[in-house]
Amino acid sequence: MLPCGICCSYKPCNCCSLGLVYRCCHVESVVPINHDTKLLCVSLPPGTCMCVPVGYHVHIRHEVEGVMVDRSYTLVHPSLGSPDTDHRLSQGKVFYLMIKIYKNGALTPWIDSLKPGDTIEVSQYDGNFNESRLAGQGDLIMYAAGTGFTPMVGLINHCISQNTDRKVKLMFFNKTEDDILWREHLDSISVKHEWFTVQYVLSEPGSNWKGPQGRIRPDLMESFSPHSDGKTDDLICACGPTPFTKTVIQLAKDIGYGDDNLHAFLG
Ligand SMILES: Cc1cc2nc3c(=O)[nH]c(=O)nc-3n(C[C@H](O)[C@H](O)[C@H](O)COP(=O)(O)OP(=O)(O)OC[C@H]3O[C@@H](n4cnc5c(N)ncnc54)[C@H](O)[C@@H]3O)c2cc1C
Repeated sequence: MLPCGICCSYKPCNCCSLGLVYRCCHVESVVPINHDTKLLCVSLPPGTCMCVPVGYHVHIRHEVEGVMVDRSYTLVHPSLGSPDTDHRLSQGKVFYLMIKIYKNGALTPWIDSLKPGDTIEVSQYDGNFNESRLAGQGDLIMYAAGTGFTPMVGLINHCISQNTDRKVKLMFFNKTEDDILWREHLDSISVKHEWFTVQYVLSEPGSNWKGPQGRIRPDLMESFSPHSDGKTDDLICACGPTPFTKTVIQLAKDIGYGDDNLHAFLG
C-alpha cells in the first residue's frame, strides 16, 4: 500500500477538509496495559512528522470482511508523570495509542492481532480541545470512564510539565479494579504532587472495595467538584461513552457550571 500523496501535512488544510487523509504507518511496539488494553507505539512514514495538540485524536481505518471500518483513538504519552524518554515523540516521528480490545468489536480484534512491523492506516489529527483552556488558575476537574481516560493523560502530563499549582482532580469510573488503567502511575502522582487527587469509582467492585461505587450521579459530582460563585475559572472535562460524557456535562450545568467551565471529549 502506498502512502497518501494528496496532502503534504497532517494538519487540517483545504485538501484534508474534503475528507480525512490517511497514511500508512508502522507498528513499532505493542505492550499490554492490563487484561484487555494495549499500548501501541506507531511510527510515521520516513520524512513525515505529526505533532499533535493535547487531547486530539486520529482515525484508524481497516477493511474488515469487505467493509471499511474507521474508529477514533486519542494520542497518549508512553507513561504518566515521568518525562518522555522517547525523543522521537517530541519530534512527531512516533505516537502512542492506548486501545481497549473488544472481543466482539468491529475493529479492535484486528488491532489485537497487530505486531511490530505491521502497517496501519492513520488519519491526520482531529479534535477541538483548546489547549489555552489549561492556562487558567481554577481547578481542573476530570471525569473519565474506561478508555475515556486517554485524553486525561495529556492533560495531567501537561500540568506536570507546567509545574502547576492549581488543583487537578480525576474521578475515574471503571467496572472493576482490574480495569483501572495506569493506576500505579496515578497513585504515584497523587503521592508526589499535593495538587493532584484521584478518586476511583467502580460499578462492579469486588467484596474488598471500600471506595465509591456505581455510576456518575449528582451526589458524586457535588462532593467532587462543588460549585460556588467564586469558582468561575474551573475547567471540567469529561470523556467516556457518549451517555456518560453527556451526563457529566448536564450534572455540572445543574450545579451551576457554565459552558465556559466545560469541555466534552466527543467524536
Ligand atoms: C474521539 C474519540 C476518541 C477515542 N479514543 C479512544 C482511545 O484512546 N482508546 C480506545 O480504546 N478507544 C477510544 N475510542 C473508542 C474507539 O473509537 C472505538 O469505539 C472502540 O475501539 C471500539 O471499536 P470496535 O470497532 O472494536 O468496536 P465496536 O464494533 O464499535 O463495538 C464496541 C462495543 O460495543 C458493542 N456494540 C457495538 N454496537 C452495538 C450496538 N448497536 N448495541 C449494543 N452494543 C453494541 C460491541 O459488542 C462492543 O462490545 C475513542 C472514540 C472517540 C469517538
